[in-house]
Amino acid sequence: MPTVEPVILPASRWSALWPGRCAHCDARSSQPLCADCVQRDLPLRPRCPLCGVAVAAAGTVCGHCRVHPPRWSGALTLGDYRFPNDRLILRIKFGAEPALAGWFGALLGARWLHTALPLPDCVLPVPLSRQRLLERGFNPAWEMARRLARTLQRPADANSLLRVRHGPAQSLLPLTARQRNIRGAYACDVRWDGKTLLLVDDVMTSGATLDEACRVLLRQGAAAVWVATALRTPPDPAP
Ligand SMILES: [Zn+2]
Ligand SMILES: [Zn+2]
Repeated sequence: MPTVEPVILPASRWSALWPGRCAHCDARSSQPLCADCVQRDLPLRPRCPLCGVAVAAAGTVCGHCRVHPPRWSGALTLGDYRFPNDRLILRIKFGAEPALAGWFGALLGARWLHTALPLPDCVLPVPLSRQRLLERGFNPAWEMARRLARTLQRPADANSLLRVRHGPAQSLLPLTARQRNIRGAYACDVRWDGKTLLLVDDVMTSGATLDEACRVLLRQGAAAVWVATALRTPPDPAP
């Protein structure tokens, strides 16, 4: 088990990419968030091992996953998808900041090692359609996946899982329509017999996107698929 800093990353790798101010508090910082803001906004805290929502005690599976366990083996996330963390994702997607996505990927890698989750045979991003890729210029999930893979010293592959059907963005649809919208959107003609894969995306909300991508990889023979997302949408508060 390598020794890793569980909360923040070494400054040196990011100082050349970052203007020197924390995105959340404006303090001087050599990386996108200063150490205090990482501890406050992306804290190491108990989360459901299957979907990443915050839970009261370590190792507790959330109520939703107890009733509807996901296809994947487990999930790691850094924090909740809500203010102010959501602004970082908007900056990545619409401000075209791949380095920020890479920072999330490296932090995911450090947490993956810290949590001692199984090392995958390959790391794959949830792919964008060709049309979306042309609009954005890059796939944030790939920027995260390749930095995560580098941290884990595992290969990453952006070419075997493909998005073959372009539909409305999941974020524009009500939760109930997301599963239908994404069905059949991905294809993979590579066999993954017996392999453990790690699927990476920026945010998990309903989980429908990851579920569909996971379904395709398991159909191609993968023994297990794990999931890593930068952020996780918290469940609606109980009425
Ligand atoms: Zn800060
Ligand atoms: Zn859960």
